[in-house]
This record gives sequence, structure tokens and C-alpha cells, in this order.
Amino acid sequence: MTEETFQKNDPNSPPREEDITIFKSLADHTKGKPDQALISKDTILNIFNRHGISMQDIRVKQGMDFLHSLPDKDLNQEQFVNFIHGCGAIGNRMLQGRLVIPDFEHFCQSISSIYEKTIGLQSGHVASYIPQLSSVDPEKFAISICTVDGQRFSIGDSSDWFCVQSVCKPINYSIAIQENSEKVVHQHMGREPSGTSFNALALNHHGLPHNPMINAGGIMCCSLIGRDLNGAERFDYITQMWHKLSGEIPRFSNSVYLSEKETADRNYALAYYMKEQGAFPPETDIKTVLDFYFQCCALEVTSDMASVVAASLASGGICPITRELIFRPEGVKNCLSLMSSCGMYDFSGEFNFKIGLPAKSGVSGMILLVIPNVMGISIWSPRLDAMGNSVRGVEFCNQLVQEFNFHAFDNVILQNSSKTDPRRHPYEKSNLSTNSLMWAAWRGDLHGMRENMANQADINATDYDHRTVLHVAAAEGHEDIVRYLINVGAPINKPDRWGRTPLDEAEFHHHDHITNLLRQLGGLTSKELIQTESQSK
Ligand code: GLU
Repeated sequence: MTEETFQKNDPNSPPREEDITIFKSLADHTKGKPDQALISKDTILNIFNRHGISMQDIRVKQGMDFLHSLPDKDLNQEQFVNFIHGCGAIGNRMLQGRLVIPDFEHFCQSISSIYEKTIGLQSGHVASYIPQLSSVDPEKFAISICTVDGQRFSIGDSSDWFCVQSVCKPINYSIAIQENSEKVVHQHMGREPSGTSFNALALNHHGLPHNPMINAGGIMCCSLIGRDLNGAERFDYITQMWHKLSGEIPRFSNSVYLSEKETADRNYALAYYMKEQGAFPPETDIKTVLDFYFQCCALEVTSDMASVVAASLASGGICPITRELIFRPEGVKNCLSLMSSCGMYDFSGEFNFKIGLPAKSGVSGMILLVIPNVMGISIWSPRLDAMGNSVRGVEFCNQLVQEFNFHAFDNVILQNSSKTDPRRHPYEKSNLSTNSLMWAAWRGDLHGMRENMANQADINATDYDHRTVLHVAAAEGHEDIVRYLINVGAPINKPDRWGRTPLDEAEFHHHDHITNLLRQLGGLTSKELIQTESQSK
């Protein structure tokens, strides 16, 4: 396997121009001598906080260690450059506002408010087939987020441990593909939704499990993992994989494992049925395979660490925290496709229709939600609906995609969408259209102007000085643009921040043809505008 491991930053390499620019953008120039601006540690740590980059993040550890070793509370340019160097690429991108969710703080406020809106849901029941699940506090609720840039946020019971249950299935499938190739894996299982319940005693017309997200396929994946390892080694191996995917060591609940084993008649029946159909690879010992399957279901994680697992899938198999490549992206793509079509039990079609994101749920009340190339989300709330999915979890997903344009096909509704795109900088949306209108007006570019209008640019938009597009066109003397703007309903007498109107601009720059045109169309100077306004009072 190719691995892109975390690289330590070389402290001896020369300061980069970019780092100095960042320092200048942040530093408080009133502190220290005139030639020695400073930046406070608090300012730096606040910025990390706002962007969701943890001080413990391994990628910035070298920089943070250096920062904490400094005796003063302020850093000069040289110290800052050393610090930022120790934070690697993520530090620069963060300070330049170039992380995948640029306004992470605001995004997290929205997530918290969805959490608050869903916590009141009391319907559903915790799984009752084993005592370890039936005794879980039904009020538990956690949401955790990790973006592909490693921006982290958690709310609720995010450090409680719970068993992964069926959420082991997408991970086991990805491992099976990684080890055996897609071709070999799919000689032993299909990739169609089953149309029956997750533990139905049913195989497809080739005598194979319908897909890897239901029990039959989950058991089959277990037969394809670490075939040359003994039972103990295989367990260590799966634990290591979860460790690599989440950056933390998972726990194991022996009591869940033993209970699973005792209540597993259906899973035994499924395995024997598949054996009878010749579905397993040659020389498979199904008791060992089932044992391994129960162990996988009994692995425990926290919501916090599960979000990193989801983010590793979101970034095509690279753990966002360690930057280690764990799965080949081709395999992750397969896994996400199957999570989309089969990950939410008998609700998979409806979930894919409404939410439009790959997800996998488990009977512990866990949902692993993946927003490809953006973030992973872990949700844990133990009360389940009739399909076996977390009630609050599904509602959280519903509200998430109502607010943000995360549904896979939201991108066909470009304009008029009331949804927010948190991948864009908050200023970007208004700036883009206003900016390009202003530039088109300045250059006298009528085509550009028309294209912007066709894209529903706002003709009333102003810049920070309250100047309209018409101010710019009038000042530059572009008659065709002025005519066009007035035709499409641009405001003719809107004063800018100094009270100046488009007609003032035309007069000031001696564009007589524009002055005449504006006058004909009802244009007023600022003086006239004030007079008219005072008369009408
Ligand atoms: N351990 C469960 C079983 O195999 C998994 C249930 C689930 O989360 O779907 O029956």
C-alpha cells in the first residue's frame, strides 16, 4: 500500500514570503518598536479555535510546542515564522481562510442549533435484543464533525463509548476491497439493495449476499479479511485499521461480543445458507468468520473519533488528521456508492432520495454520514425508529440538508436555492456577482453585463461605499452600459456613501453625452436630489 505519511517540517529551511505576509496581516503594529510588530499568542490560539483546528492536532504539534515554549505572550515576526512553519501547510491555509469550511465557527453554530431542535425528539426505542444495548441511556445524543481538513467540532455526549454494530460493515467492505480487489470481492457478493430486511434469510439469484451493508454481506466481508492471519492477529488488525482511520484506539466490549454470539441464530443460519450455496471463498471456516463478525460489531468508539472515520471516507481514504492513505480512493468510491444505496436498512431509498448522502447506521443508534470531499459526521442517539435507524439521527440529517446544499444533487439547483453553501466564504457569494458587475461596467463590457444579469446578479447591489453599477458606468462614460442598466431597472438616483448620484459622476468626469442621457431619463444631481426630498417632506 502506498502511504503518504505525516512529514515533519524542517525548521532550518528559510522563511517563506507567504509566512511573512501572513504575519503582517495579523500582527498588532501598535505593540513593540515601530519596526517590530507583534502578534499575541491569544490571537493565534483564538484563530485555531474558530477554525476547529485542535491544539493537539498532530499536524500542528511542532508549531504548538514551539509556541508554548516561548516565554513572552507576544511573538515577533521571526518567532511567528518559526511557529507557522511548525504547523505545516494546514496553518497557512487556515490563516488565509482557505480551509474547506472557511467560516467554521458559524457553521458549528448552525449544527448546534439543529442539535437543539432534534434533542427534544422522544419517539422510538433502544434496541432490545441484547442487554448491553437495551440498558443504554436513551437520552444520549452526540454529533461530531471532522472536515477533510481536520476541522473538528462535537456537541453532546461525544466522548461516551458505544458499539459500532453494523457501522463496521462499510469499514470491513473497504478493507476487503483493499486486500482483494473489487473483482474478487464481488465474486462473493452483489451490489444491489436487497429489498428485504437487513438480516433476512435471503440471497440474490446467484446465491450471494445482495450487498455488503446487510448481515449476509457483512459476514461475507469478514471471510475476505486477513485470510492468512489467525483469530488474534485478525482482531489486532481490525483494531489497527480503526485506529488508523480515527486516529484513536477503539475499545472492545466483551459483553456485547458474548451477547451477540449468544443471540446469533439468524447470523448462523445466514452463514450456513451461504455455505450451502458455495458463496464463501474456498476453505472458509464459518465459525471463525462469524466470531470475527461479532467482534467487529462489538468494537466501541466515541462519536468524536467516529467523525474522523467518516472524514477518512470523505477524503477518499486519507485520514485527515495523520494524512495517511489507508484505503485506495477507488475502493472508497465503491463503499460510498453502496452506503448511498443500501446503508440505512429499509429506509435506504428514501434516505438517498431526501438526504442524498452516503450513510451507514447501526442498531446502537449510530449513523456515519459522509459528505464527500467536505466532511464526515457521526451521530449517536440510541432510540431507533421502526426501520432500525436513530430517530434523532435521521431528523438531524433531514435538517442538515434543508439548511445546507449537501444533497448530492443540490448542485442542479444553482440559482434561487435558499440553502447555504458553507464551502464558500461568507463574502464570496455577494462579492462575486457584485464584483463582476462592477468590473463589466468599468470596462464597458456589455456582454459581460448581460451574462451577469442572466445569472441573476442583483442590479441594485452596491459596493462597500454604496456605489451602484450605474455610478461606475457613468463615471467611465460608457453610454451603452448606462442605457442598458436603466432599461433593466437599475436605480438612477441612488446616492453613494458621500451622497453623490450617477449624474454627479457623469458631470464631474465631463461625459456630456451621459449627462444628457441621465437628465432625459430623470437623473438628478445630489443637490437636486436633496431639494426634491426636502420638498416632498
Ligand atoms: N450485530 C448485529 C447483527 O448482526 C448488527 C445489527 C446492526 O447494527 O444492523 O445482528
